Amino acid sequence: MLKEYEVIDVKKIKNDFPILNRKINGKQIVYLDNAATTQKPLQVIKVIENYYMNFNANVHRGVYTLAEEATMEYEESRKRVAKFINARSYEEIIFVRNSTEALNLIAYAWGRKNINENDRILITQMEHHSNIVPWQILVKEKKAKLDYIGLTEDGLLNQEDFYKIDKPLKVFSFTHVSNTLGTINPVSKLVKMAHETGALAIIDGAQSVPHMPINVKEIDCDFMVFSGHKMLGPMGIGVLYAKKEILEEMDPFLTGGEMIKEVDFYESTWNELPWKYEAGTPNVEGGIGLGEAIKYLENIGMDRIREHEKKLVKEALEILSEIKGLQIYGPREPEIKGGVIAFNVEGVHAHDVASILDQEAVEIRAGHHCAKLVMKKYNVPAMARASFYLYNDSEEIQRLKEAILLVKKIFNV
Ligand code: PMP
Repeated sequence: MLKEYEVIDVKKIKNDFPILNRKINGKQIVYLDNAATTQKPLQVIKVIENYYMNFNANVHRGVYTLAEEATMEYEESRKRVAKFINARSYEEIIFVRNSTEALNLIAYAWGRKNINENDRILITQMEHHSNIVPWQILVKEKKAKLDYIGLTEDGLLNQEDFYKIDKPLKVFSFTHVSNTLGTINPVSKLVKMAHETGALAIIDGAQSVPHMPINVKEIDCDFMVFSGHKMLGPMGIGVLYAKKEILEEMDPFLTGGEMIKEVDFYESTWNELPWKYEAGTPNVEGGIGLGEAIKYLENIGMDRIREHEKKLVKEALEILSEIKGLQIYGPREPEIKGGVIAFNVEGVHAHDVASILDQEAVEIRAGHHCAKLVMKKYNVPAMARASFYLYNDSEEIQRLKEAILLVKKIFNV
């Protein structure tokens, strides 16, 4: 039975995640590193086991039963992904390893063909390194220009910067939700701003697609990337979404088996979409596992997951704000904050915070979170970060608070 204030049945959900029964130092685990990766429900674990036990074969090649079954399940997953984000068709869904690979694919395949000397690419100071480094390399190679939208003290994008930078722009690439500050960016508005200047809009959805309803048609972005392992799926499977006409115009990133139509001695032609971008044997178990993870999320409902996390964040912000000497980064309004809270305990390094929390079986991340430009903004080498998902609850926020109080006691701060 759901309690009145609950939007999802967390107790029931927890039963689906065997790892959450683990004890560390004799204490029940509190897993709060969901921005790094999420745990996997039994449904996903079993679907992968079933694949290897019953129909493992390479896809797209064989005409025998196992190969046909593996291909069908893998391609069904692709259709499920397309529906999940409301793409126009499965042709717009490219399976890759992760968000990082997807962003590199865009910079290499689209970027090398379309970026020329003095062209401008715009990103933001809150990007994960995977949405910075590929652009740095591209602009060096092409003698193009890289510009940034900065941050306000509250961890929002300083949108005025957009109007100050030189135009025209070729690309505007930005994260939907910051993996450190939790900021939810107004993506539809940003896409519109990009399009008005004639730029392509690329969205890093690594921290949004797992946590809220996403409609790429409505948002109207040209590309969106995300990672399966951050949304209950296996590691090593990710998604590049792109508008069909862009994928048709672009050249492939990797070449070789599977991605060709014809091969002659000196020339080859490319396969249909989406396989034109999927050279070599793909991660079949990953694709099938991701499809099952999406089924699981859909059964609960993405709008409910978002509501649940909003409540958790509101509660956690209230509780943590009462702790003296705790610096919390990013916006304070749950409406514009995903389930991510980065903080520092005054006088204690974030790694020490995370180590003591681990003694209490509270598993959080500490470091620069692959967002060194965010660390620069706040002039800190590292932050501690707690990040929530559908299986976290109020009791766990209390455990987080008690463990932070213990840090303060040990360090006498
Ligand atoms: N972008 C964001 C916003 C992220 O949080 C992450 C993962 N921390 C990535 C990109 C990269 O994801 P992956 O490691 O799965 O490629």
